[in-house]
Amino acid sequence: MHYSLTKISRNVKLGPMPASTSARSTCPTSCPLKGQGGCYAEHGPMSIFWSKVDRGEAGGDFDAFVKDVEQLPKRQMWRYGQAGDLPGGGDEIDRDQMLRLAKANRGRPVIAFTHKPPTEANIETLKLAQGLGFSVNLSANNVDHADELMIHGLNIVVILPEEYSRRKSETKTEYRTRLNELPKHTPGGTRIAVCPATFTDTNCLQCGACAQSKTRGAVIGFPAHGTKKKQVSALAQAPGAALRGT
Ligand code: SF4
Repeated sequence: MHYSLTKISRNVKLGPMPASTSARSTCPTSCPLKGQGGCYAEHGPMSIFWSKVDRGEAGGDFDAFVKDVEQLPKRQMWRYGQAGDLPGGGDEIDRDQMLRLAKANRGRPVIAFTHKPPTEANIETLKLAQGLGFSVNLSANNVDHADELMIHGLNIVVILPEEYSRRKSETKTEYRTRLNELPKHTPGGTRIAVCPATFTDTNCLQCGACAQSKTRGAVIGFPAHGTKKKQVSALAQAPGAALRGT
C-alpha cells in the first residue's frame, strides 16, 4: 500500500502546503461517495496522480512516508489524505501505523478527515492519535449523521446541500444574505460553520480551522459543488432532517 507526500501542493484551496495521498485501498468500502461519482478525488488530475500512487509509480511504502513526515519543517501545517484515507485497508484504521504517523508528526497542525466507520476500535485509535497531537475530523454525510458522530467527542465536518454554496452570479454580500436564511444548526443544535475557502479567496493555510486539535464548538460544512454536485447534494439531504434555522 503506497503513500506519497507532495512537498508543496498546487491546490489553491489548500494553499502552498505539503499534502499526502494514500492508495485507494485505504478508502473504506462503506464510503457512500466511492464509485458513485461523488468523490472529488476520483476526477481530473487528482485521479491521475492517485492512480500513480496506487501503481507504486509515485511515493513509497508506509515507512518511507513516515520518514518524509518526520522531516517536515517544525510547525508546518499540512494536509493528510488529499486523496485516500487513514492508514489501514478498507474500513479499518491500522492502529500501529496511525500511532507511528502521529508520533512522527510531532504535533504539527494537520488537516485530516476520515470516512472510515466509527467502530469502537477506530474511535479508540483516533483518540490515541489525538492524544499525540494528530487530530482527525470525522466526515459526516449529512447533518443527521453529524449529530450521530458527535457522541464520539471528536471534531466533525459535514457535506451540505448545494444551496449552501456561493453561486457564480452572487456577490459575497448577496451570498451572506442568502446564507443567513438557511439553517445554521444541525437538528441536534450544533452550529454549522461553512468552510470559508468555498466562498472567499482564503485557503486552508490561512484558515487552519480543520487542523485544530481542540474540540470545536461547530461542525465545518462543505457545500456540494462541482460537476457532481447533484449526487453529492442528494447525499447531503439528511433523511427527515429538520435543520434548525437559528
Ligand atoms: S475550514 Fe479552513 S482549514 Fe478547513 S477546509 Fe475550509 S479553509 Fe481549509
